[in-house]
Amino acid sequence: MFRKILMRVLVGGLLLLAGTDVAFAQVTRFIRFSANGATSYGILDGEVVRQLAGDLFDAPKPTGKTFKLAEVKVLAPCDPKKVIAVGLNYKSHLGERPSATYPGLFAKMPTSIVGPGDDIVLPEDAKNAHYEGELVVVIGRRAKNVTAADAPNYVFGVTAGNDVSEREWQKADLQWFRAKASDTFGPLGPVIVKGLNYGDLLLQTRLNGEVVQSQRTKDLIFDVPTIVSYVSRFVTLEPGDVIYTGTPGATRRMNPGDTVEIEIEGIGILRNKVRAEK
Ligand code: MG
Repeated sequence: MFRKILMRVLVGGLLLLAGTDVAFAQVTRFIRFSANGATSYGILDGEVVRQLAGDLFDAPKPTGKTFKLAEVKVLAPCDPKKVIAVGLNYKSHLGERPSATYPGLFAKMPTSIVGPGDDIVLPEDAKNAHYEGELVVVIGRRAKNVTAADAPNYVFGVTAGNDVSEREWQKADLQWFRAKASDTFGPLGPVIVKGLNYGDLLLQTRLNGEVVQSQRTKDLIFDVPTIVSYVSRFVTLEPGDVIYTGTPGATRRMNPGDTVEIEIEGIGILRNKVRAEK
């Protein structure tokens, strides 16, 4: 009996020393929110928000203050400096197009990010804007030239995103800049989940309640570690930067008045309404 207890204490101590491994074994849900005019990060525990002091990516401490989820405004779960995206990363989305031999990258703007419940605002000449439900990686540590084997250590957690894409602009413009990076074209949230096995989660998109995309993240052509490693060869990733990993299946046009929901197993539902700017 005594030896069993001793072993447990020893194993517990080793796990504590391993640090990140302990954190990874436990699932934690982080949100960013505003309450009483101030913006904070917090841990979401059921319907209770436990406020954190300081930066999410730099050992934040609980303030001891709690809020009811219904009483706060939930914001996009982080405020990235860089918003990177991978295109054509599910076979079901490729159609007749051949698979790429490396991840196809493009950029969205930080100003494209909006939170859960915010509107996707279509500029006047956006006539064919599609939803793209995606798993989004949130970087936790500065990453440059990291290997795929080491990449998970640089991932803080995952969230859901909608890589809104204006298909006419995507075809017609010199680059995908306007089609992908316009204001509000990157809904993100509702929470960042740490400790989730993001390699195999069900991702679903609903348009006005109808399921229009449904796929597991294990079907990604380039998985999360491969993507993070690849991006880090070219761009220094910083804590809070996000990478949209690609969308499955077919997409359809969103019209003003529509409601789009991206639901990822273990993360929750990212819900946004669509409206015309004018
Ligand atoms: Mg996409």
